[in-house]
Amino acid sequence: MSVETASIDRLVDWLHRFAALVTENRDYLTELDSAIGDADHGSNMARGMAAVIAKIDVAPQASVGDLFKAVGMTLVSSVGGASGPLYGTFFLRLGGSGGAADALDATGLGAALRAGLEGVVARGKPEAGDKTMYDAMAPALDAWDAEVAGGGDLVSASAAASTAADTGRDATLDLVARKGRASYLGDRSAGHLDPGATSTAYLFAALAASLAAEPA
Ligand code: ADP
Ligand code: MG
Repeated sequence: MSVETASIDRLVDWLHRFAALVTENRDYLTELDSAIGDADHGSNMARGMAAVIAKIDVAPQASVGDLFKAVGMTLVSSVGGASGPLYGTFFLRLGGSGGAADALDATGLGAALRAGLEGVVARGKPEAGDKTMYDAMAPALDAWDAEVAGGGDLVSASAAASTAADTGRDATLDLVARKGRASYLGDRSAGHLDPGATSTAYLFAALAASLAAEPA
């Protein structure tokens, strides 16, 4: 089945699936963060996404911009630490890019996701190989763009992005952290997956699952 546009309902479904994944994997994300951080990434993400779901389920949003701005503001206000402002900025920029649209095609959603990545870069200054969420997100968007350039649709683009995010997450295992709390450990940060890259892989897995699902 070819999916031409992602409606607001489908984007809301994405957020539900992401919330479910970070909630199911809360203890795992916290375990990863206990090795190289302060053991709160699972609780941060689960709390933040629970607040997001509570917000968007009560007040349905009319446009892509309104939806993602609500998500971003909720994450910024409900999650402390590094990941709240970073994921919050990601979604605020997605909202800014999506604007008044009530659906996005593969090019439009790719552009919105890239605007989100640029927000993460503006906020956290991560570079490739710093062992952060960037190392899952940037390859995911490169894979998305390559798939769309080759004629792919939302389903194939999001599947390619999810695979690339998983590969990027796995590659953080051997990296030495140069950003965030994990960087305080220096060489001892190697040998552990980055928690934020792991939650970002869930973000893209959730998107691929939503876009591949039959419409409700
Ligand atoms: P905190 O580090 O404040 O406890 P979390 O544990 O929720 O926040 O999130 C940690 C994750 O945030 C890291 O695994 C990393 O992926 C990401 N991160 C931290 N600092 C940066 C940064 N400067 N740029 C991009 N991502 C970052
Ligand atoms: Mg932490």
